[in-house]
Amino acid sequence: MKNLKNALLLKQLYLLKQLGYNYTSVNAFKEEEPDLTLPNTLDKLKKQALECHLCELSKSRTHVVFGEGDSNANILFIGEAPGALEDASGKPFVGRSGELLTKMIENVLGLSRSEVYISNMVKCRPRENAEPTPAEAHTCQPYLLKQIELIQPKIVIALGTTAYHYLSGDDTAISKVRGTVHEQNGYKLVPTYHPAYLLRNPSAKKEVIIDLKMVKEMM
Ligand code: URA
Repeated sequence: MKNLKNALLLKQLYLLKQLGYNYTSVNAFKEEEPDLTLPNTLDKLKKQALECHLCELSKSRTHVVFGEGDSNANILFIGEAPGALEDASGKPFVGRSGELLTKMIENVLGLSRSEVYISNMVKCRPRENAEPTPAEAHTCQPYLLKQIELIQPKIVIALGTTAYHYLSGDDTAISKVRGTVHEQNGYKLVPTYHPAYLLRNPSAKKEVIIDLKMVKEMM
């Protein structure tokens, strides 16, 4: 929430600079503190995210990719950020990585895509599919944390290093932590390889299958 506050404050300061101000008092912002609490329903949170302009990614996006699936899902998958097809459609994981993820959900977990929830660490597409910057990830993080709070999944599967890193605060390589279980505040975090990595390294699929079978047993 602090990052959201700082981003809004920065926006106000840029606005003042554009108006010609060079100096301002910190007290200038004290009286009218905007309401920065995020909504308590997924629909309202989505509506707010769809109107978000807190970071640079909002300027180049076509759609905010909020996430989709069962709002009461036991399993929540978190990727890194939308790619070109996701940006064009507004839906998470619809490209080749998404096809692979869907197959794994169906074939290994025995569930349909609509029975889980799928989202991303960052809700707007970074240019040229770059990794989100720490500022972009931190600015977007309150939306994800609120999504987790509202969906209340039992298990969050972090797909790849970025999602794992921002959810756990740990920057150990995904190859070292995949398949382990981390007790978080109210849910279990399970890191595994990102489907895009599996497309480049198909031999790693067997490890993701092991991780998802473990998740199935935990349920
Ligand atoms: N890669 C991701 O991390 N997320 C998507 O939604 C698509 C590709």
